[in-house]
Amino acid sequence: MQNCRWNRLILPLLLALAIWAEGAMASRGPSVIRVQAGDCLWKIARRYGTTVVDLAQANGIKNPHCILAGQKLLIPAGNRQRKMGSTYASRSYVSPAVRTISPPVLRSLQAMVKPVAQGRLSSGYGMRWGRMHRGIDLACPVGTPVRAVAAGQVVSAGWCRGYGWLVELDHGQWRTRYAHNSRLLVRTGDRVEVNQPIALSGATGRATGPHLHFEVIVQGRTINPAPYLNL
Ligand SMILES: [Zn+2]
Repeated sequence: MQNCRWNRLILPLLLALAIWAEGAMASRGPSVIRVQAGDCLWKIARRYGTTVVDLAQANGIKNPHCILAGQKLLIPAGNRQRKMGSTYASRSYVSPAVRTISPPVLRSLQAMVKPVAQGRLSSGYGMRWGRMHRGIDLACPVGTPVRAVAAGQVVSAGWCRGYGWLVELDHGQWRTRYAHNSRLLVRTGDRVEVNQPIALSGATGRATGPHLHFEVIVQGRTINPAPYLNL
């Protein structure tokens, strides 16, 4: 009987406290954090009760898939109570197919050179172990030069969770990613020529063996690059 009475008193008190705490968090001003090794945008969004979209917008991030350790991020205020819904990251991963590729992009895709000279296709694009594999794997010994498949600019060169040492190139209206490298040879902002070595291959990040994971992104979505490389 005594317990029942206590519960009647304590439960509403706890509830009020929880609501107050949530409100206090929501009204907190914006804060700046530093990205830690192993962080990614969705993880940070979840940690601070915000969304990948809001984080990307607040920080002018064009590529939410990859942020670099040490980078400063502004955490937008007042959205603590918003649930992590369908986010930028997951949305841009929904459709594997790009319905229409403009003729200039198509021409530049067809002109791609191989990112590794002797790489054997060890895993193709598509569903794999119940998950979508957004690129192709080219098996090659550690230290093989990884080359830019087309001229472009380095949009990111650094560690990215899962991808290991990653280089992402912008080719105007499409992008390429080169993952699991052992060493990077370029920096963010560098201009690169077609066939220029941009990294040395490896097995960093989520990789079961030495290979290059190669992705092509058109209109924000990955496509299967194998046909364009005659693989
Ligand atoms: Zn892969």
